[in-house]
Amino acid sequence: MSFADRPSYRTAAPMTDFDARALAASLAEILGSDRVLHGPEARRRHPGDMSWLTYVHAQHGRPLNGQDVVASPRTTREVADILKLAARLKVPVTPAGGASGVQGAANATCGGILLDLRSMTRVRNLDRRSLTCTVEAGMIVKTFEEQLNAQGLSFTHYPASAEWASIGGCVAARGSGVLSTKYGTIQDHVLSAEVVLSDGDVVQLPALPRHGVGPELTQLFVGSEGTLGVVTAVTVRLRHLPAHRKFAAYRFDDLAHGIEAGRRMMTSGVRPAVMRLYDREAAIHSLERAVTAGLEGETMIVMFDGDHPTLVDAEAAVCRDICVGEGARELRAGIGESWWDKRYVFYYPPHAPQLPQIWCTMDVAADFTRIEAVYRNVTRAMREAVDPSWGMTVKTHLSHWYDWGSMIYPRFGIPKGPDDLDAALDLHDAIVRAATLAAIEAGGVINDHHGVGMRLAPFLEQQFGPAGMRLLRRIKHGLDPDHVLCPGKLALRPEGQGARPAVIPAA
Ligand SMILES: Cc1cc2nc3c(=O)[nH]c(=O)nc-3n(C[C@H](O)[C@H](O)[C@H](O)COP(=O)(O)OP(=O)(O)OC[C@H]3O[C@@H](n4cnc5c(N)ncnc54)[C@H](O)[C@@H]3O)c2cc1C
Repeated sequence: MSFADRPSYRTAAPMTDFDARALAASLAEILGSDRVLHGPEARRRHPGDMSWLTYVHAQHGRPLNGQDVVASPRTTREVADILKLAARLKVPVTPAGGASGVQGAANATCGGILLDLRSMTRVRNLDRRSLTCTVEAGMIVKTFEEQLNAQGLSFTHYPASAEWASIGGCVAARGSGVLSTKYGTIQDHVLSAEVVLSDGDVVQLPALPRHGVGPELTQLFVGSEGTLGVVTAVTVRLRHLPAHRKFAAYRFDDLAHGIEAGRRMMTSGVRPAVMRLYDREAAIHSLERAVTAGLEGETMIVMFDGDHPTLVDAEAAVCRDICVGEGARELRAGIGESWWDKRYVFYYPPHAPQLPQIWCTMDVAADFTRIEAVYRNVTRAMREAVDPSWGMTVKTHLSHWYDWGSMIYPRFGIPKGPDDLDAALDLHDAIVRAATLAAIEAGGVINDHHGVGMRLAPFLEQQFGPAGMRLLRRIKHGLDPDHVLCPGKLALRPEGQGARPAVIPAA
């Protein structure tokens, strides 16, 4: 197997020969010693992100997050000074926000500096007339939303991880929220960014994304997972907190009719804020636990919102006509409302998966022509990848819709994986690999909004093609020639290259 074929958690070698104490001393000159951690404390307080990969490695005493030092800057100037120091010493730097990623991206697999951005939380400017806000990258989404709600405003970007995820992390991982079908994914929310490059240059990108001033550079950093620069602030668009919400729920005879109803809405201009279509397994074994409604099969939940009740009611009525036209039976609207009220319970015990389970959610996007085939291919490939004796479950829903297609969200779970770490990884990797290749074969794009991280990096070349991958490498080389920022992430470290450990003189 070549480097490119192997998930990087199998090959990453932490560069442990840093003089962490000396590095910490240099960082303390920039930040003060109270904002620098090193030694065991630096690893204990920052165990890594929330992916199964991170949890299972930690359980076996082989943590993926191998930072030598944690630095917590409060200002863009401090971030720039840290990056200048790292560039001079060629020390890897891994930016981290809430570390709520599920692909292993925020782990400092090569050691070096973990840049904890959660102290950068200032709202720099709020323009109520234009409904825009410039906010620092470490602001936690839920806190931001609560501050805005108190003023009658909303960010409308609600990932299920809002409690932990930072705005910078959402941008870097190209995230999506539960209201994306109407309000867009993070790339639509971000108008502009302030970015610190690997040499410490601070770039203020144009204030608006719709311009004729050359290429739109802000989007270069959306989804770049910390490999091209550190996002220190973004200007995002806001909305008024909607005055009206209307829920509905429908039961379809099969998934195909549900997808067709969604397609007809999206291609005719109807914009539900929430549209979640659950396959049979997901409706009965997942959704039902939260809404306690006795669901029988494929179920769609919709929610329309807005300032004007007439518009909200009109859209809901068109949605009803379309769903009924596709043979759906209308269920109690309370099912949708109950999901909305309890939408976060899925992520806490007893609903959230825990070791010794193996779990992972794939999220694959496709156009309307291919989405059904992608669903069939991916879920079949997952099931065929493992022996039935493991008792794997696969539950799928479609929750982010576009005017050209949608995405599937198949979540697999194995009640108890092998005790041996490598055997557990083999099982996990076999399912992810089968599902990802099946998605590509059926014409899907391998990720909708969770990012690449360590899990999907081995498949990036297949997704982009060799020339596309060369383009990405050239961009990386131009912006970060020494691979100081997140070395190896996004499959951007050719074997034998990348950041090298520096010998730092003792302080
Ligand atoms: C229970 C649960 C539910 C989730 N639901 C959703 C969901 O609904 N929608 C969704 O999109 N995601 C979801 N996620 C995944 C995760 O929350 C998102 O990927 C989120 O965007 C990560 O934000 P973070 O601040 O935690 O980033 P981190 O995990 O800290 O980092 C993610 C990546 O971004 C880089 N990074 C972080 N901050 C910066 C920065 N300022 N500049 C440059 N690079 C940076 C890191 O190096 C890393 O590569 C969920 C996760 C969990 C555990």
